[in-house]
Amino acid sequence: MQNTSPADLDLSIVIPVYNERDNLVPLEKKLEEELSKLHMSYEIILVDDGSMDGSPHIINSIKKNNSRLKLIRFGSNHGQSAAFAAGFKAARGKIFVTLDADLQNNPADIPLLLEKMEEFDVVCGWRFKRNDPWIKRVSSKIGNAVRNSLSQEEIADTGCSLKAFRRECFDDVKLFKGMHRFFPTLMKMEGFRVTQVKVSHHPRLHGESKYNIRNRLFSSLHDLMAIRWMKKRQINYDIIQED
Ligand code: UDP
Ligand code: MG
Repeated sequence: MQNTSPADLDLSIVIPVYNERDNLVPLEKKLEEELSKLHMSYEIILVDDGSMDGSPHIINSIKKNNSRLKLIRFGSNHGQSAAFAAGFKAARGKIFVTLDADLQNNPADIPLLLEKMEEFDVVCGWRFKRNDPWIKRVSSKIGNAVRNSLSQEEIADTGCSLKAFRRECFDDVKLFKGMHRFFPTLMKMEGFRVTQVKVSHHPRLHGESKYNIRNRLFSSLHDLMAIRWMKKRQINYDIIQED
């Protein structure tokens, strides 16, 4: 992925937004509260993925009082991976931090990830105590187990959006729809050091989850097969002479 933006900030917070109207004001407030403690330069990139509930309108009004906030707005819904891709392309941070717009991830956990970035290139949040309906918790457990087994991975919770990446992680990967669930695997394939850290998880207070078993299971299985294929067919060689 070509990122032509200058890397002149410490952090880019990249957040996909799809119909999150009532979460946006508390989200910005909480983020500013936590990020201002870090003594790092940062930007917050909200990528509106074709919301129809007036989310962009609210972001535009928050933006008037926050010059660190940037809005990228899609004309229609393109999915979470597309939103991340557009955000990363515009990001100016040396480190990218991703999270959900619904405050299920806690911005107060960002320092936990950054601490680990001293030794690793990718840090994945692990929602150790999920605050979701039981059906989602169970399906996610099964999903993670199947994913780990078929892709020979050990990522406890790849669905957790709270993650940190060194900017370079995205230089050589091409992003496809649904790939946001496999970022850790893609990064490992590129030779980056990946770890996970336990983070808190909160119930969704406003709006609805965009995913259910039906729309997640089948597309994820399809994507999983693609990842499995990519891992198996990855080009590997050892040069013993080159004159
Ligand atoms: N999202 C998005 N485009 C979509 C679906 C979701 O930008 O097509 C955003 C959504 O607004 C949220 C994040 O991606 O910020 C994760 O979605 P959600 O919270 O519904 O997923 P869950 O936490 O229930 O798995
Ligand atoms: Mg959520």
